[in-house]
Amino acid sequence: MLEVINVKKNYGELTAVKKLSFEIRPGEVFGLLGTNGAGKTTTFKMILGLLEPTEGEILFNGKKVSYDDVDQIGYMIEERSLLVKLTVKQLMLHYGQLKGLDKDTILKRLDYWLDRFNVKNYLDKKISELSKGNQQKIQFISSIINNPKLLVLDEPFSGLDPLNTNKFVEVIRDFQKKGTMIIFSTHQIDHVESFCEQLIVLEKGNAVLSGKISDIKKDFKRHNIKMIGD
Ligand code: ATP
Repeated sequence: MLEVINVKKNYGELTAVKKLSFEIRPGEVFGLLGTNGAGKTTTFKMILGLLEPTEGEILFNGKKVSYDDVDQIGYMIEERSLLVKLTVKQLMLHYGQLKGLDKDTILKRLDYWLDRFNVKNYLDKKISELSKGNQQKIQFISSIINNPKLLVLDEPFSGLDPLNTNKFVEVIRDFQKKGTMIIFSTHQIDHVESFCEQLIVLEKGNAVLSGKISDIKKDFKRHNIKMIGD
């Protein structure tokens, strides 16, 4: 279980996240919705242990997240930081080994995922030679190569066409069925309703709406959140 308890983050004078609390249980998908600067990336960095909260705490299975948890966590953060000089294969061996996997396991899983994302012949291509969308697929694959128990996805769908967005959603659903805890952020609501149990809407670091989508949907308009068909 992931517990975010009264978390606050200051950058100097600026409070980027104010008193945020939520829980994610195994097999739950949690959405974080908000415009630029709302505090989504800051929240993710705190969950991953890359930033220390100014106040409050975050517990992963009852304790503070640490380097020991790296093999159980997968993430894709918005600053797309792929090592562009590497080939897809080299990159995945790099990430997979960091997460404690052996070479054969990594290559077997990579073969499966490249096939599923229709990029099978890109194994020996340099990351820099791939289109943005394909780089995004590779980054997504790198976040799931270790079959994580916690998957943190910052704007996973940004810039993807509907077909590929659906592919990503299908894979997220598969991990959800396996019991993975998933948190993702988005600017849009479009794909949220169909697969995400709970949602928090962040505005300037404040959780202005939170709960089950069916319960908070009626307040979306008030916060300028558009649903399909609006
Ligand atoms: P985006 O979608 O643009 O990434 P976001 O919701 O992820 O937005 P954050 O990146 O968490 O938002 O930023 C929240 C606020 O904190 C913004 O006002 C941003 O300018 C500020 N901020 C983020 N990182 C830093 C930093 N390292 N130092 C100072 N201010 C920061």
